[in-house]
Amino acid sequence: MSTGNQQWRLADRDRAGYPVAADFVWGETPAPQPVDGQMLTRTIYLSLDPYQWVRRRSGVEQPGEVCHGRTVAQVLESRIEGYAPGDYIFNTNGWQSHGLTGKDISVFNYMFPRKLDPELAPLSTALGIHGMLGLTAYAGLIVQCDPRPGETVVVSAASGGVGQVVGQLARIVGARVIGIAGAQEKCRYVVDELGFDACVSHLSDNLAEDIAKACPDGCDVYFENVGGKTFAALLPSLNKRARISLCGVISQYGNEDGRDARTVWQETGAKIFERQEVTVHDLFVGNYVADYQDIFLQEMAAHIQDGAVRYKEHFWAGLEQAPEAFAAMLTGDNFGKSIVTVSDP
Ligand code: NDP
Repeated sequence: MSTGNQQWRLADRDRAGYPVAADFVWGETPAPQPVDGQMLTRTIYLSLDPYQWVRRRSGVEQPGEVCHGRTVAQVLESRIEGYAPGDYIFNTNGWQSHGLTGKDISVFNYMFPRKLDPELAPLSTALGIHGMLGLTAYAGLIVQCDPRPGETVVVSAASGGVGQVVGQLARIVGARVIGIAGAQEKCRYVVDELGFDACVSHLSDNLAEDIAKACPDGCDVYFENVGGKTFAALLPSLNKRARISLCGVISQYGNEDGRDARTVWQETGAKIFERQEVTVHDLFVGNYVADYQDIFLQEMAAHIQDGAVRYKEHFWAGLEQAPEAFAAMLTGDNFGKSIVTVSDP
């Protein structure tokens, strides 16, 4: 067994389309040593998220850098007061087996570390429902769109990390919830297991018709994860003064035309937004951490414990699998929140 620091770095190549194996370079270095104000942790779970590809394609992440990623980790050695060996934390080790957290680590990587209590919620959920993805769903649905009992809420990528939480929060509010997902297995899951009222497949040849049938009273709130043809098919169902949370447009993350995906999305909807007086809220979860994270985590822990909210995670075993798992997640070959198990919890 290796005692060094295994890692994936970004390769120096043109990143057109979706990721392939050649975009990543495997390596191993000695484990880093913490100085005062830092701690060394071992990665347990690595989160795979669509935005990581957006960062890489847009050049935020440079060739040779360790690939960015949020993680659940355990403290091995601490030179920070308040953290001790054995503590579990949510941090940003990236695609590597060990990492430093604390002073002089880049701001983005040190943005949201927090201690985890495995008694409160399973550790892996800090990367999904009991963490940033859950908060994303809460911020976009509850804070931005404020759905009312009896209204119709539609969410795309419905069985994914964000979508599954959106639909369940909407159900708890008393809204009618319609999911949009790919495979029938995913559609069945959100209806039978998560309590959505209906789910339509974006693989259908009659998507706009299927959405309209599932929403006989139209759509009051749309939580957008996907964009592209799914969004175009949803547009005719938007009610007067509908609200939209523009969370993501994953169907466009492999686009090769170089156009900004959110601008294309706005242009596609512009006429209908104006005619129907639709309010569009742009969503960036980072803007909601300071005001809403604590209250959200408290509420969600209670929902998880009493079974009011359920969740699905898709685990991949071993850091070696990260590139393959990442590509699979971006193209719909995941089922639930995508997580790589890097070491034994
Ligand atoms: P998911 O777990 O939902 O995985 C991605 C899913 O997207 C796939 O499983 C697939 O589901 C669906 N998908 C992929 N390609 C297409 C396509 N061409 N057409 C339709 N559906 C497609 O990912 P996350 O929950 O992590 O992320 C969901 C969205 O939320 C993303 O757009 C992401 O960028 C965004 N996000 C935004 C944040 C913010 O602050 N604004 C924060 C976090 C996430 P299926 O098989 O059902 O098609």
